[in-house]
Amino acid sequence: MTLETRFSHFSDYLFINLLNTVNSKNKTKADLLDEEGMMDEWLSLMKEKELLSEQQVNKIKEKPVDRTEMKQFRDTWRSYFTSSQYDEDGLQSLIDLTKKTPLSFEMNAETLMPIPDKGGTAGLQSLLAFTMLNAYQDGVFEKVKGCSNETCLALFVDPKGKRKWCSMKVCGNRAKAQKHYEKSKQ
Ligand SMILES: [Zn+2]
Repeated sequence: MTLETRFSHFSDYLFINLLNTVNSKNKTKADLLDEEGMMDEWLSLMKEKELLSEQQVNKIKEKPVDRTEMKQFRDTWRSYFTSSQYDEDGLQSLIDLTKKTPLSFEMNAETLMPIPDKGGTAGLQSLLAFTMLNAYQDGVFEKVKGCSNETCLALFVDPKGKRKWCSMKVCGNRAKAQKHYEKSKQ
């Protein structure tokens, strides 16, 4: 099974695609980052989807990315978004990551592309922190939602405030079928 098909939906936001590396199928939690080689696969998928450039991925791959550290980062931010308790500490930790591993910029097809000074975990986290700070400034953080299906762990960005499901195909249809079933029982 390719990595892409293991996401209930694919986000335009790099950080959301990291947060969704843990999901739930048939009520069992599946942590993709527990699987050997998954960080590489994830990076390749982000490159394929143009959420990371070739230069960025090459830089990150100069050193190994630690899955345990990435899981910690992911889980901290998952609880940040699922509890909706926005505090300054979270933002400060992102700023600190970009200070610890600074980024420099290159022009790539008229967009500025941040490249971390170091590869590996530090580089990836700095890059993620930078894109998250930008998302925060654009008001994206308050639009991050969890799927209405209680057993689903997916997060997504809901710009219009109307979306309930991570994906209509996955959780939306399931809810519709359940509703239909209950109605027909009455
Ligand atoms: Zn869902």
